[in-house]
Amino acid sequence: MSFFDTHAHIYDRKYETAETRVEDILSRSAASGVTRILIPGDSKESSMAAVELAGAFNGKCGMELFCSVGVHPHEAKTYSDDVEKYLRDSIDRREELRIRAIGEIGLDYYYDLSERNVQREVFEKQLLMAYEFDIPFILHERDATGDCLEILRSFYKGGKLRKEPGVCHCCSCSPEASQELIKMGFYIGFDGPLTFKNNKKTPEVLKITPLDRMVIETDSPYLTPEPNRGSINEPCHVAFICAKLAEIKGITLEEAARITYDNGSRLYGLS
Ligand SMILES: [Zn+2]
Repeated sequence: MSFFDTHAHIYDRKYETAETRVEDILSRSAASGVTRILIPGDSKESSMAAVELAGAFNGKCGMELFCSVGVHPHEAKTYSDDVEKYLRDSIDRREELRIRAIGEIGLDYYYDLSERNVQREVFEKQLLMAYEFDIPFILHERDATGDCLEILRSFYKGGKLRKEPGVCHCCSCSPEASQELIKMGFYIGFDGPLTFKNNKKTPEVLKITPLDRMVIETDSPYLTPEPNRGSINEPCHVAFICAKLAEIKGITLEEAARITYDNGSRLYGLS
């Protein structure tokens, strides 16, 4: 049984920077059945870190590593011509650099760490870039479903979204909104919150998500699933999320692992 953790920030400072720490994370991941990890960026700096890690550690412990580059809504205020040039130059070299998506991009009105109009502008620029380069994107949306859907709808109607545009990462929107995203071709990402006892919404979203649209992700080092909630998250915990997903969908853990692995691979163009 193999797991694909489609979202883990394993360059995060919480893991320190020494090489051995990354190797420890990868060996624990391998021991728990993880064989693929996608490392997402959220700023120019973290995108560079993601690219570097994916290049340096791919193949260690038998792990296949991939990455994404992009500017998160929190970091929208840092977007500049220089950042855009970095993104474009990197995506031009995506095969060599193991880049499989643009992201995280989107809107976050919960923290409002960048002005909302700046968030929208930077989101739209990167959406266009994803269309131009024909590459999927990783959507981060929190407390901004209305504006987010409005922007995506206009891209969709204007023919500026790929057939399978990307993934709604750590999906926290309503079941209705998730259905609209699925109709536009999105995958839905499920994380630790699926296992939280007080979370009623995410299981409802999962129940109506088709089997071929769901992917699993840890969002390490954040959102550690039960029963390890409170500790620093690592890709090795993805099995807990997969087990919960299997329980809710009424399938076996093996089936859930295989389906989510295949979905993640299709989403990111991996064989
Ligand atoms: Zn993330």
